[in-house]
Amino acid sequence: MKKFLTILSISLFLFSCSDSDESDSDDDSMEEVTVDISSVVQDAFYSDNGVTVTVEDELITITSTGLPDHKTPYWDIENQAHELYEPFPTYLITNDIYYNDDELGRLISTDDDGNAIITYQNNMNTLMTAFDYTMEIPTTPSEAENKEETDLGVIGLALNGVPIYNNFEGRDVLGVVAMSTFDAAGAHPGPNTDYHYHTAAQLSIYEENDGSTYPTINDSKLIGFLRDGFPIYGRQEEDGSYPDDLDENGGHTGATTEFPDEIYHYHCSNENYLDSGWYVLKSGAYHGTPGISSGN
Ligand SMILES: [Zn+2]
Ligand SMILES: [Zn+2]
Repeated sequence: MKKFLTILSISLFLFSCSDSDESDSDDDSMEEVTVDISSVVQDAFYSDNGVTVTVEDELITITSTGLPDHKTPYWDIENQAHELYEPFPTYLITNDIYYNDDELGRLISTDDDGNAIITYQNNMNTLMTAFDYTMEIPTTPSEAENKEETDLGVIGLALNGVPIYNNFEGRDVLGVVAMSTFDAAGAHPGPNTDYHYHTAAQLSIYEENDGSTYPTINDSKLIGFLRDGFPIYGRQEEDGSYPDDLDENGGHTGATTEFPDEIYHYHCSNENYLDSGWYVLKSGAYHGTPGISSGN
C-alpha cells in the first residue's frame, strides 16, 4: 500500500455578491484545503466484503454488491435461516408518537387525531439482493461553485459498500411508514431489492449486538464517502463533542482521524429526526461535484 500521501494546496476563492446566497458564510470560506483522498479510500473500504477500489487518472472507482456485512432481518425474512439474520428491532419509546404493542408485537404510531396509522416493520420489500454498484469520485475533491442537491438513489457508499441514501423515500421525505421498515442499522431495501442506509444505527435496540459492524451509531467513525468524494462521519467529532458549526449541507472543514491535516467532511445529522430516535445521515446538497454512480 502506498505511503500515506497528503497534498495540500490552498487556493483563494472570491465570492461575488450575486452568489453569496449559495456560498458558506463561515469565517474560513475564503480558503479551501484540497486533500488527496486516494490512500485513505484504498485502506478504508472493506475489501473483505467484496468492495474494490482502483485509482486511475485522478479518478477513484469503487465497486460493491451493496450487501451489508452485518446482521439484518432482510437477509432472510421468510425463513430466518441466514447466519446474519436478526429480527426487526424493538423500537425505543422516545416520545408519545411511538410505542410498542407487545401483544401484537407491532410498532404503533398515531396521527394528530390519535388514529393508529402504521403497524408492522416489514413492507412489500422483503428481498435484498446483490447489485453491481460503481461509484466514481475524484482523488482530490473540491468545493463546487453551484451546489447540487442530492437526489434519489445512491448518494454515497458506506465503507462496507452499502449505498447511502438521503432523507427522501420515493418522492416524499422520510416518514413513519418508511422508518418503520428499518432494521437496527437504519436501512432497508427499496422496491427493487436494493438495500441502503438512510440513518445511523440504533444499537440500544440490540444490546446483544455490541461490536456489530453497523456503519455508525453515535460516534465519530468514518462512515463512507459521498459521490463528491468528501468523507462522511458519525454525529461526533474525534474528541466526542458534537459539531456546532456545520454548514447548510451538514459539513465543515477540520481534522479527522483519517485526515489529520484537515478536510471538508460531512457529519451524520445530530437532529433526532421526528423524535423517532433515528438520525438522518445526509440531506441537502453536495459540497462538491457528484461523480458518476451506477448499478441500480
Ligand atoms: Zn429507502
Ligand atoms: Zn467534523
